[in-house]
Amino acid sequence: MRPGLQRGEDGSLYWEEVALEAIAARFGTPCYVYSRAVLEANWRAFGQALEGRPHLVCFAVKANSNLAVLELLARLGAGFDVVSGGELERVLRVGGDPARVVFAGVGKSRAELERALEVGIRCFNVESGAELERLEEIAAAHGVQAPIAPRLNPDIDAATHPYIATGLRDSKFGLERRQALHCYRHAAAAPHLRPIGLACHIGSQVLDLKPFRETLKYLLQLADKLRAEGLEVEHLDCGGGLGIRYRDEQIPATAELGRALGAVLDESKTPHPELLLEPGRAVAGPAGLLLTRVEYLKETTAQRFAIVDAAMNDLLRPALYNAWHEIVEVRAPDPNVLAKPEQTWEVVGPICETGDLLGSGRRLRPAPGALLAVLDTGAYGAVMASNYNSRPRPCEVLVDGTEARLVRRRETTEDLWRTEPHPPKAPGRKHN
Ligand SMILES: *Cc1c(COP(=O)(O)O)cnc(C)c1O
Repeated sequence: MRPGLQRGEDGSLYWEEVALEAIAARFGTPCYVYSRAVLEANWRAFGQALEGRPHLVCFAVKANSNLAVLELLARLGAGFDVVSGGELERVLRVGGDPARVVFAGVGKSRAELERALEVGIRCFNVESGAELERLEEIAAAHGVQAPIAPRLNPDIDAATHPYIATGLRDSKFGLERRQALHCYRHAAAAPHLRPIGLACHIGSQVLDLKPFRETLKYLLQLADKLRAEGLEVEHLDCGGGLGIRYRDEQIPATAELGRALGAVLDESKTPHPELLLEPGRAVAGPAGLLLTRVEYLKETTAQRFAIVDAAMNDLLRPALYNAWHEIVEVRAPDPNVLAKPEQTWEVVGPICETGDLLGSGRRLRPAPGALLAVLDTGAYGAVMASNYNSRPRPCEVLVDGTEARLVRRRETTEDLWRTEPHPPKAPGRKHN
């Protein structure tokens, strides 16, 4: 069983102290449910892993940008890694400290750069020479100095899904070594730029420590070279990417990551720079689940389908990355049902796409009306939800001990066309 999840004596699942059945009854389905305790424990593990060394942990907002989630982390003194102006505004909205914000992304717009300069973020992780030029021009126009760290593409294989590998040579992310060095030297000489660090992010759902060690070694070696030229390097940002156990993956604990990075630092002769990490999935992923109800069972000569009320618009990962999420029955089947053999089911949503699948070949004993929980969906779940097939996006609920509170209401039908000009309703017309 996952941290925070337990089966009560009545055979039904509890997330912290709250029955998932009670949450479904109160808020409806589909519904994302987050556990404060799991989120905070995962967050604290990073600070503990780097204890005794200068460090800053920046939560990757794109993994879960719900204001309630960000607020909990901001209260714990979190830094934040943002990849858009919208994410920056969310951080500011919950009182997050801009001096602990790093800003990555290959396509930062003029407006985004201006706003981030205005609020005084910690660092711009620069991904191209053209971006550096634009930033310098804006900083000069405002008479300020922009703190920057070139984001390097180290050509390190994170051995993950191609869509979430970002550190390979042919990827759109980061700068090659030569260009990054050039950016750093240029920034050091430019009155409106201040180079403060070097950054990397090699990919997501990384399953072992080797790529992290290699990344840090790569950054240290570059920092040594810059220092030999008389240029200071205050921090090294190793990005995010630590994986989580969705199925049976063997994932190093956060503490092991800390020890591995610490060992690399201790081996280097140069003064230790501050270490930055940008975890998203490892903090938020295991802290969320998606509750969904079985609408219909449908058997064909080829397959058994459990058709549920959540779909790829609510949780895109299985359709987009062929990702595997454990799916469990919220109420353990009663003994009569348990006596029957388990069968394998395709758990699918109502959307008109064959790819609309939450899980394939699952051993379940589903019944119409039964509740299922799709686990480890706290990261890249709700944030990727869309209105495809004109489906209102699901609600989000935060559980804290015995309490459950709505942290995003379910969208209504009206919400679907809120941003579209539309004719007033024709009076008197009957809709049958
Ligand atoms: C997505 C992203 C992260 C977070 O990745 P996780 O795998 O969720 O830890 C960190 N840094 C950058 C620049 C990212 O784009």
